[in-house]
Amino acid sequence: MLKINSIVHGVCKDLSSEGKGVVKINDDVIFCNGLFIDEEADILIEYQRSKVYYGKIKKLYKLSKYRIQPKCKICTSCGGCQFQQLSYEGQIEYKYNRVKQAFKRIAHLDVKIDDVIKMDDPYFYRNKAQMPIGYDKYKNIIYGMFKEKTHQIIPVDVCYIENQKTEKIFKTITYLMEKHHILPYDEDKKEGIIRHVLIRTSYHFNEIMVVLVSNVLNFKGQRNFINELIKLCPDITTIVENINSRTTNVILGEKEKTLYGKGYIKDTICGLTFKISASSFFQINPIQVEKLYKKALDLLELSPNCTLLDAYSGVGTIGLIASKKCQNVISVELNKNAYLDGIKNAKNNNISNVYFVNDDASDYINKSDISFDAVIMDPPRKGSDEKFLNALINNKVKKICYISCNPETLARDVSYLSKYYKITNITPVDMFPMTSHVETIVGLFLKK
Ligand code: SAH
Repeated sequence: MLKINSIVHGVCKDLSSEGKGVVKINDDVIFCNGLFIDEEADILIEYQRSKVYYGKIKKLYKLSKYRIQPKCKICTSCGGCQFQQLSYEGQIEYKYNRVKQAFKRIAHLDVKIDDVIKMDDPYFYRNKAQMPIGYDKYKNIIYGMFKEKTHQIIPVDVCYIENQKTEKIFKTITYLMEKHHILPYDEDKKEGIIRHVLIRTSYHFNEIMVVLVSNVLNFKGQRNFINELIKLCPDITTIVENINSRTTNVILGEKEKTLYGKGYIKDTICGLTFKISASSFFQINPIQVEKLYKKALDLLELSPNCTLLDAYSGVGTIGLIASKKCQNVISVELNKNAYLDGIKNAKNNNISNVYFVNDDASDYINKSDISFDAVIMDPPRKGSDEKFLNALINNKVKKICYISCNPETLARDVSYLSKYYKITNITPVDMFPMTSHVETIVGLFLKK
C-alpha cells in the first residue's frame, strides 16, 4: 500500500499501453507520465484508480538514451501527447515492441514484425484540430487542451502535431470572441456560448472548415463575428455552427447550420476525392494514410475478377481505392451517416462497382450468400467478434487484411484465426507520432 502524496523512488521497466512509465515497488504498480524505460526517478503518488497508482516525476536520476528536449512547452501538462520528450527513434522502438509483445503475450505467437512505417517529419501532421474554449485565471478567453482526466484547459500557443494553419485561426477566434462579447460556455454554471472549436484542413486542396460548437443556435453577434473572421483568415473556406446544448463530454451535437461556404471540405487519398463534413470520420494523418492503404492493398494481391468485402468501412475510403483492382466491392458500415457519405463518395468519383450496406459487419457477413475472395477489416478499438471471425473461417475466405488501432484486440482476433490462417505479414504504421497510439496491418492467407 502506498500513501497518496508520498514520494517513492523507482526504476521504469516498461511502458503501459497508454504510454506511461510503469514502476513496480514490491506488489504495487505505479503509472507515471513522461517516464521512460531505464529511467530512475522520485515519483509523487497523486491518486489511485482500481489497483494502479498514478504519479508524476519529482526528480529524475537516470535518463533514457532516447530522452530529448521537447519542442512543445506544455507537453508535461497537456493530455494530448505522451511522447514529445522521447526521440522519434525511441517512439518507433516502443511501437514495434508493443505490437511484438501483444502477439507474444495475448496470441502466444512469436512472430516476425516488419519495420514500423515511419513519417519523414513527425510534426504538424493532424488534419483535424479540436480545442475547448474557456477562460484563464485572469478571465481572458483561451483555447487549449484539457489536462489529462480533467476539464481544466491548458492554454495552447503552438500545437506541434496540428496543421500549422490552425494556429492563426484559433488565435483570431478568441480575439474576436473578446471583441464581440461572445462568451465561452461555462460547464459548471451551464451558461455562455462557444464550447469547442474544430478546424479541419484539407491536405491536397486549399480548403479549411471551422466548426463553432455552440450552446445555442444563432448566437447574438454571429454575423459580425463571422464576417470579421473570414476577413482576417481568408484561408477559411467554410464555417459551420454545431449546436450542442447537452450536459455531455461528447463534443459535437446533432444539429448543424452552415454559416459560410459549402458546409464541407474535400481531400484526396490515393487519387480519389472525398467529401468531409463536420462530423464525418476521416483518417487524421493525410500522409501516412496513403502508406497504410497501399500496404493493405499490396498484402491482398487482388485480382481483377475478385469480390472484396470492406468491413467497418467508414466513409468507404479503402474499398473505393481498392475497387479499381476488383470486380466488385461490398462496403459494410454500421454508422448511417458514414454509410451515406460512402454512397456519395462513390458517385463523386464515378465508381459503380462498390455496393454499400448499412449494417453490423457480423450480422451482414452471416446473412450474405456472396462468396468473398478477400476481406479488409478495420474495426474500432474493441476489435471484431467471434461471430464475424467464424464467418470468415466457415466461408473459407482466402485472404484477409486486418487493420487495427489496438494491438491487444488485434492479437486476440488474429490468434483466433491463426488455426486456419497463416500470417503473411505484420506491419505497424505510425499514424500518430508523439502519441502512444499504434496502427497495425496484418496479412492472413487461408492454410491449404
Ligand atoms: N476503414 C475506415 C474506417 C475505420 S474506423 C477508414 O479507414 O477510414 C471503424 C469504423 O467501424 C467506424 O466507421 C465505425 O462506425 C464502424 N463500426 C463500428 N462497429 C461496427 C460494426 N459492428 N459493424 C460495422 N461497422 C462498425
